[in-house]
Amino acid sequence: MAVGVSDILQSAFLTQHPVKMLIKGQWVESASGKTFETFDPSSGRVLATVAEGGQEDIDRAVRAARKAFESGGWSRLTPSQRGRLLWKLADLIEQNADELALLESLDNGKPIRYARSIDIPQAADHFRYFAGWVTKLEGNTIPVSVPNMFTYTLREPLGVVGQIIPWNFPLQMAAWKLAPALACGNTVVLKPAEQTPLTALRLGELICEAGFPRGVVNIVPGFGDTAGATLAAHPDVDKIAFTGSTEVGKKILQASVGNLKKVTLELGGKSPNIIFPDADMKLAIRGAMNAIFFNQGQVCTAGSRLFVHTSIYDQVISELSKAASNMKIGAGADPATELGPLISPEQLERVKHYIELGRSEGAVPVTGGQRPEREQLPGYFIQPTVFDKVHDQMTIAREEIFGPVVVALPFDTIEEVTTRANRSMYGLAAGVWTTDVKKAHEVSAALKAGVVWINTYNVFDAAAPMGGYKQSGYGREMGHAVLDAYTQLKTVWVNLW
Ligand code: ADP
Repeated sequence: MAVGVSDILQSAFLTQHPVKMLIKGQWVESASGKTFETFDPSSGRVLATVAEGGQEDIDRAVRAARKAFESGGWSRLTPSQRGRLLWKLADLIEQNADELALLESLDNGKPIRYARSIDIPQAADHFRYFAGWVTKLEGNTIPVSVPNMFTYTLREPLGVVGQIIPWNFPLQMAAWKLAPALACGNTVVLKPAEQTPLTALRLGELICEAGFPRGVVNIVPGFGDTAGATLAAHPDVDKIAFTGSTEVGKKILQASVGNLKKVTLELGGKSPNIIFPDADMKLAIRGAMNAIFFNQGQVCTAGSRLFVHTSIYDQVISELSKAASNMKIGAGADPATELGPLISPEQLERVKHYIELGRSEGAVPVTGGQRPEREQLPGYFIQPTVFDKVHDQMTIAREEIFGPVVVALPFDTIEEVTTRANRSMYGLAAGVWTTDVKKAHEVSAALKAGVVWINTYNVFDAAAPMGGYKQSGYGREMGHAVLDAYTQLKTVWVNLW
């Protein structure tokens, strides 16, 4: 039976006062008794009151994770048993997919059609992919040149991992972080974003239901400069994995210095999306739409700089603007919605500020640039916006907007466009649209980005590594690349003399 909005709002989970945090296998209120509210961004109504984690809660959660790690509560299970728990969690996510999708859509604003077809299945798939790795974390035997030595490596977990995640893909981000950390034998303290704590906490219930030992996963909702900063600086945390803004990423790195904890960062972007005149035009325009308007543009890989060859520029901008202005804007929970609200009033102000800045610098919105009618859409909505008459030096062409705003930039040659595309402090992703195989590979080789999509955009898979060049981050998530980020190598020398 399909789950409706009223079922969710009246569910035992949401009607707790407050929704509690998970520490050492127990659902508890914060030590301070403090709480915060989480909102539905399509209306501003309060969805739930949530326990607000602070320093003392983070301390308790880290102690619980340390105990679960050192006592062998997690590591003493066989790899097969640990893999089975991760697999079971994936099954539970699927069994509760309707509820999780609606919860995600309400808390974040994203269209339910995408939450149900992308966010939730991909989160489940992530746990399944990493369930498979638990039994395959092998070391090597090393052919050293010292006589009579047998030398091998072991791939060992790091210990207690702190994970700080953003609000744009709350459940997926939790899965991207938890699955590899747990597969590698670490224990975790996860801090969801203050705007969207609900699906991570519901996931915590499923983690308990799956039968994970106490303290292996602790989930502490709270704010960045309190709970997040305490976790990042904590002397007993061995590693921090962070996804969020480049600005906060730098703070995390500074906070990590005290005990030199390992750090991986998945940060911002201003990704170029390049359409050549020999591209399949229909596919390219649909791709450019998806690149910037998926998830209201609140995607770190958003294709926010659209480079279009001069010979097709007018045609592409006109068709893109038409498609953008036809998007169905509405509450995420409405199945017809294609573009939901932004996450918060702050994010709405930020995007509006950039749109005004674009105008004042001389750029022209061909479509969008306004809030839709407030009477019909009272939440934090903004129209999908396409800017023309943009120059590379304008603020809207350089800074990450994190909203449904794309700048269109004409170009003439391959060398010119790759040089301009690379002239950014970011290097997270890029798109290339062409039917010429040689050109596709030439351009993708020239682009300084951690991910290049050719004739597609915003495609992710648990098996495919993802991460940034330059100030878009350190390390990779997903695929076997992430295993290096959650393990350390021990080299063992045995004298056989
Ligand atoms: P955004 O600007 O898109 O909200 P942020 O980078 O600010 O993204 O937030 C991403 C995550 O980082 C959130 O969970 C937030 O609470 C957390 N965070 C924010 N500031 C800090 C900080 N100083 N230390 C640790 N975590 C932080």
